[in-house]
Amino acid sequence: MVRDIKKFSEGPFDVLVIGGGINGAAIAHMAALNGLRVALLEKGDFASGASSKSTKLIHGGLRYLENFELDLVRESLRERYVQIKSAPHLVRPQRFIIPVYRGDKRPLWMMRIGVWLYDVLSGKYAIEKRRALSAGEICQMVPGIQRQGLIGGVEYSDAQMNDARLCLENVLSAAEKGACVANYVEVRSLIQEKGKTVGAHAFDGIGKMAFDVRARNIVCAVGPWTNMFAKKERAPSLPQVRPTKGVHMIVKGQLANRALLVTAQEDRRVFFVLPWAHHSLIGTTDTDFHGSPDEVPVDQEDVDYLIREAKRVLPFAELKRENIIATFAGLRPLVSKIGAPAKISRKHVIKKSDSGILYVMGGKYTTYRKIAEDVMRRLTQKPLLDTREEFPVYGSGPIEEGADDIAKKHEMDVSVIQGLMDFYGVRYKDVLGFIDKDRDLKQPICSCSSVIRAQIVYAIEREMACTEDDIAMRRLMLGYIDCADGQCREMIRKILKERRV
Ligand SMILES: Cc1cc2nc3c(=O)[nH]c(=O)nc-3n(C[C@H](O)[C@H](O)[C@H](O)COP(=O)(O)OP(=O)(O)OC[C@H]3O[C@@H](n4cnc5c(N)ncnc54)[C@H](O)[C@@H]3O)c2cc1C
Repeated sequence: MVRDIKKFSEGPFDVLVIGGGINGAAIAHMAALNGLRVALLEKGDFASGASSKSTKLIHGGLRYLENFELDLVRESLRERYVQIKSAPHLVRPQRFIIPVYRGDKRPLWMMRIGVWLYDVLSGKYAIEKRRALSAGEICQMVPGIQRQGLIGGVEYSDAQMNDARLCLENVLSAAEKGACVANYVEVRSLIQEKGKTVGAHAFDGIGKMAFDVRARNIVCAVGPWTNMFAKKERAPSLPQVRPTKGVHMIVKGQLANRALLVTAQEDRRVFFVLPWAHHSLIGTTDTDFHGSPDEVPVDQEDVDYLIREAKRVLPFAELKRENIIATFAGLRPLVSKIGAPAKISRKHVIKKSDSGILYVMGGKYTTYRKIAEDVMRRLTQKPLLDTREEFPVYGSGPIEEGADDIAKKHEMDVSVIQGLMDFYGVRYKDVLGFIDKDRDLKQPICSCSSVIRAQIVYAIEREMACTEDDIAMRRLMLGYIDCADGQCREMIRKILKERRV
């Protein structure tokens, strides 16, 4: 897909979607799928907001059961099934263990009832069923775990995903179905006529050019930026978004060979220790945030909290500052409510402002398809294509060829081909297409991963990557890998320089 700003002058569109996080991306995708003329504008890179800073779980949300949000959990578990089925290259089932210690705020019986209810609510959309575990079994399954005080636990299923790429693949699907999409275009102000919003004054940060986009319907999916954005139209009637900050860190090595859900001792919140690209993802925190969504810092106390709590269950793990590969912070765009951040509902809210803009607020990544569907029902009376069982994205579809045959044909390592298939789904062929034109592109970029040069070219030429970070962080996920000498970054800069128009 090519970034083509000229196309935006072809309005008025049926719908202009503002914000290229998962919600905006999915709304644009579903609108285009249903034959609407769509424009999507994102002021940074796609998924550069909350949608690349999540815990990367497609999950029912075991802890929402405590708040008796049974409908939200049931809906999420259904969506989990749809995501696993629709985008198996990006969403994969994962087994989780909950170890319970003597004196834990959530006792073993409560955890057992929780996972039982989880399975009941999953109904026909269940993955693998729960299982009770003895303390001995847990120690065998997670060798480095704290044995002292461990009284048992449970094992259950959820799913892990690649959040930035799932968002991107929704954008690419939208574009494939005719939507005009662009990153690095900010909506700076609104075009209003007779009290109604009919378009936006936008600014292209790459071409350094202002332009207008007109549309019959405007959807604002700017997540944590909602309060700031609403001021552009002075819309005091809208519920406020209450951004809460969540920090994660990636530490070297796999601290546990299963995903762990642990109750923090300090504040009774749950947090995760997850396997992630041969390393471990630990998170998250949940605290109110009052600063600008453009700069969300990782504070020392956030990191200390995560280290302290993870160390409590994994005392032998190398949880030192030197072993932290990356930290990242994002804002949950929760709908405002009094009370502890962790207690605020993750249910989404869709509300029309007086000038006619449809605002999407709250929600979980997991329920993005449902959010998009609910927005579509507010946009059109026409029946929608049924996506309740499947909502494929750009790389979805069966891969018929074996990695062995493809590797032989291209004279490449089978593991590299398999890696491309796992990462891009059926679009692995498009990456190989670049190698057919230039054999040099099959060279690895660095010793820290199996990424090859063609993937950088593909990110620039087909995935609208504009900057080094777009490629490293949100196309190739290299920010989560332990690289000793930064050669991969150097290669990205080199290829970007050569290919940038
Ligand atoms: C720490 C953390 C952990 C989470 N973990 C999970 C999880 O494991 N599972 C789960 O289901 N959910 C999780 N969530 C929730 C989920 O990530 C969010 O609900 C979801 O990503 C929100 O998407 P969004 O599109 O609404 O917002 P965003 O992804 O923030 O997108 C909004 C976009 O709007 C753009 N924008 C803003 N202003 C403008 C403008 N004027 N013009 C153009 N563009 C603009 C921004 O640049 C941004 O990219 C987590 C969230 C956080 C923060």
